[in-house]
Amino acid sequence: MKQMLIAGNWKMNTTSIEAEKLCGLIAGGLMKMPRIDVKILVCPPAVNISNVGRVIKGSRISLGAQNCHYERKGAYTGEISVSMLSHLGCEYIIAGHSERRAYCAETNELINKKAVAILSGGLIPIICIGESLEQRKAMQTFEILENQLNECLYGFAESDMENIAVAYEPVWAIGTGVAASVRQVDEAHNWIRNYLNNAIGAGANNTILLYGGSMNADNAGELLRLENVNGGLIGGASLTADSFLSIIHEGQNAIRM
Ligand code: PEP
Repeated sequence: MKQMLIAGNWKMNTTSIEAEKLCGLIAGGLMKMPRIDVKILVCPPAVNISNVGRVIKGSRISLGAQNCHYERKGAYTGEISVSMLSHLGCEYIIAGHSERRAYCAETNELINKKAVAILSGGLIPIICIGESLEQRKAMQTFEILENQLNECLYGFAESDMENIAVAYEPVWAIGTGVAASVRQVDEAHNWIRNYLNNAIGAGANNTILLYGGSMNADNAGELLRLENVNGGLIGGASLTADSFLSIIHEGQNAIRM
């Protein structure tokens, strides 16, 4: 069966009470679904991970974080380590989201350090890559993706490939309401799978490839059915239980085909 991960990135949204309510509604909705083979993940703001963890305990929802530091501990004021997140029950950590690249000056080199730390800590890094609109217009998309993959996955072995996820998130599609077209997503994901296979080895056939960028209940079905799409990293549409549950439903249909 095709791997399918539906991941919600709540970004800097939800107070603790709102976070508990949202994940409670998602967990409640999942209980009404007859069958769930899809892996479901929520990545709340760091301050809400603990309480969300308590609410989703025993449900089908896994817990993730939006960011971490690459050092194990020490004098890094304001930072959070992989082991701290692991102790709260996180299984996944997003690394290199385009918003962190843009607003926190995160580089491929830094993202690589984080991804290595996440993997070494026994968690799954969700490594984000994607081109800007200018780069796409200049026909540089695959050059950019190649560079991001080379640098963010530097030093990764073939055996690591089943323990990571790569999220293709074209920057121009994130939070804009304009998702990439089915053809664009198909082309990019086939290219990424092929590239990883050639560069690292056939183990990359087991790498989870997520699409992110304005995925919603209406477009999720056709995107999730693409051969090399193993799920979605969802921002806006993960903030209401109904739309997130609809995407989960589409993911479930996509792997049943
Ligand atoms: C994201 O945060 O990774 C994302 C894809 O956001 P949105 O779904 O809102 O475009």
